[in-house]
Amino acid sequence: MLKLTPILLLILYVAAMWFFSAWRLRQELNQKATPLRHPRLTPMLERLGAAMDLPPISAHVYEVAPVNGLAAPDGRIFLTRGFLDKLDADEVTPEELASVVAHELGHVSLGHSRRRLIDFAGQNAIRMALAGVLGRILPGVGAWIANIVATAVAARLSRQDEFEADRFASALMIKAGLGVEPQVSLFHKLDALTGRRGSPPAWFLSHPPAAKRIEAIRTHEARWTST
Ligand SMILES: [Zn+2]
Repeated sequence: MLKLTPILLLILYVAAMWFFSAWRLRQELNQKATPLRHPRLTPMLERLGAAMDLPPISAHVYEVAPVNGLAAPDGRIFLTRGFLDKLDADEVTPEELASVVAHELGHVSLGHSRRRLIDFAGQNAIRMALAGVLGRILPGVGAWIANIVATAVAARLSRQDEFEADRFASALMIKAGLGVEPQVSLFHKLDALTGRRGSPPAWFLSHPPAAKRIEAIRTHEARWTST
């Protein structure tokens, strides 16, 4: 029983982290979310829905300035106000925003957003466990190494999710008759959109390099649209 105690504590900790993260995210989104109704986007949401034999996709606006899209663990899809401002300024097209919605739909359909919360809690657990063990063997640098390992594990997992969500988005965009061009052109714009000065946005950091993603999208396109 005594030997099991650390493991039980770790499980309790992971569960608590999961609930707390989910709760905090839900609070944040509920306070800063409004339904997405935009005359230039509604037709896009209808087309994406129709391509899946579904009613128009419902999406929400997350009232924050950074340019981003996200899929909440409850399955809701958000575009930030910052992203819609870029649409109004004609810096992005409705088709490009449709590709973001399609990408987030991929995360929802493939169950990524719920799993990511677990990843987040798991990452913390790995970090704590490793830091405890390594800290004893290598005082000083143990925690530092644990941090690097935990971050690398999480980055690897989320990278894979991004490629899968992109793949889903490409298929949906092709089926909706929009093609993969908006997906690709948005990647080319992202650097400029998110502002090169200062720190890069979290969204971009957590995603694999744009060139790699474009390459994967082109591969799917070639396979799916060849006659
Ligand atoms: Zn993503």
